[in-house]
Amino acid sequence: MKDIFDSVMLCDQCNGKTEKTQVSKDGFRIRAWHCPKCKKLWYHPLDMRDYQEYILLRNKDFQVKLREVGNSWIVSIPKEIIRFEEISTAKVISLNLDEPGKVVLKFTKIRRVL
Ligand SMILES: [Zn+2]
Repeated sequence: MKDIFDSVMLCDQCNGKTEKTQVSKDGFRIRAWHCPKCKKLWYHPLDMRDYQEYILLRNKDFQVKLREVGNSWIVSIPKEIIRFEEISTAKVISLNLDEPGKVVLKFTKIRRVL
């Protein structure tokens, strides 16, 4: 299926041809159209939907269970985060102790990071 971003968009003010660009919001890559004449900017609707979903998740404070299984400890990651990161099968991810009391998991979803 073709993406709306593949088509040419005209500015609704000057009727001039817009230019494709990318903007970064909180490390999120958002495709956009820009009118060089009017300096107006239009965000790609799908990228904005993803961005808003991210903001909702980021503002949520999850309480998850930590339990011992064999020689390791298991943390339950909420389904919303797994769905957002588009993880569908078991995979190896990066985990590190960022600072005392803070563990960071990295799901490598490249399109969201600039
Ligand atoms: Zn314009």
